[in-house]
Amino acid sequence: MKFTKQNIDDTPLKDNVFAIDKLAREASEKYGDENIVNATIGSLYTEDGVIAAFDTVYNTYNKISKEDKAQYSQAITGNPGYKEMVYKWIKGNIDLKLPYQVIATPGGSGAIALTMMSFLDIHMKVLLPDLAWSSYNTMAKNNNLVIANYKMFAGNHFNIDSFVLESTTIMEQQGKLMVIINDPCHNPSGYTMTIDEWQKVIDHINALSKKGPCILVNDIAYIDYSINIEHSRDYMKVFNTISDNVVLILAFSCSKTFTSYGMRLGAAIVLAQQETLTTQIKNIFENSARSIWSNVNNGWMDNFTEVMKNNQSAFIVEKQYYIDLLKQRSELFLSEAKKVDLPVFPYKEGFFITVKIDNNEVCTKYHQALIKNNIFTVKLNQGIRVAICSVPIIKIKGLAIKMKKIYDDLEK
Ligand code: PLP
Repeated sequence: MKFTKQNIDDTPLKDNVFAIDKLAREASEKYGDENIVNATIGSLYTEDGVIAAFDTVYNTYNKISKEDKAQYSQAITGNPGYKEMVYKWIKGNIDLKLPYQVIATPGGSGAIALTMMSFLDIHMKVLLPDLAWSSYNTMAKNNNLVIANYKMFAGNHFNIDSFVLESTTIMEQQGKLMVIINDPCHNPSGYTMTIDEWQKVIDHINALSKKGPCILVNDIAYIDYSINIEHSRDYMKVFNTISDNVVLILAFSCSKTFTSYGMRLGAAIVLAQQETLTTQIKNIFENSARSIWSNVNNGWMDNFTEVMKNNQSAFIVEKQYYIDLLKQRSELFLSEAKKVDLPVFPYKEGFFITVKIDNNEVCTKYHQALIKNNIFTVKLNQGIRVAICSVPIIKIKGLAIKMKKIYDDLEK
């Protein structure tokens, strides 16, 4: 008899980000920071090479009393003020007409984890993009779900044909569909879908929902770094057209929006045409939350509410500096990549650019060769992720050219 449950994932966690980051830090001590490029970590860094921590956010936090920070939150689903502000912030000026519920979670991870554990029975398939944040796989495995993939791209666009094909197959097999779309500012490609692509996705899901329930998770972790920030929520208009048998979960991450990765705050926004459904899902999420993490960071929820109520304009101005900086960094990398023919996935905005390498063996060799040259990146199954969010412009200059040369040298 096993000590643990029969169906539990006891394989060592392979984290391809933190392990390489550790190597980069060791190399930095050995060879000097100016001689290494650490493009592993998905956090915003300043041009001086330190993690960005917004003044408008942390100065407000410093005014919150220690008693408030020490307390449990007012409810398992989050403080009422936070829930109200987070919903307002996420929808922006979009007139969302759907009944909704907000559940505060430890990061966007908490929101996605709740979804993974609540909708599908074991051995059912969850549909993920073939190019994706690796935690989705870990969460799916942890819940004994089977992973199915749709191809993210056809050329430079969202691959709607693959999405339609794979989702239809799953619906025919199991009579239920759960799918994750990480948009805008997709990790790891930096792609953002057009409104037309979103409309096609919703139209298809509506059609499929005649055969069974459909759960669509929109992971919006990076939404607040869209270049066209005022229009970053425009695509959400199409959510109003979901049919009765569709549930939408928006997974929000305060880690990115507030530069507060360690504070562990986010939210799951549940939307559907029927209030009874959103209430039922809220109850399920609340029970899971109570039995796993109980409640989330009280002081940080209150800080979010305070910044959004009384310091929002200054916060937006401060954040805009980093949106502009990401734009400058990405333009430099992409223009050099184009010059030397280094192939990349279609980038529009966000924290990451991914160099495209079809052959996985070559990709592994290339990743190792980059490390030997003190360029630290994250290896994916179809490419090499470069976290431009954490690399200053001075180090981005020439980076694509160097990466191309290292690739060419592999073949010699
Ligand atoms: N979704 C994506 C695509 C991410 O890259 C991340 C973090 O890296 C998250 C969600 C969740 O982050 P957190 O749990 O810190 O909010």
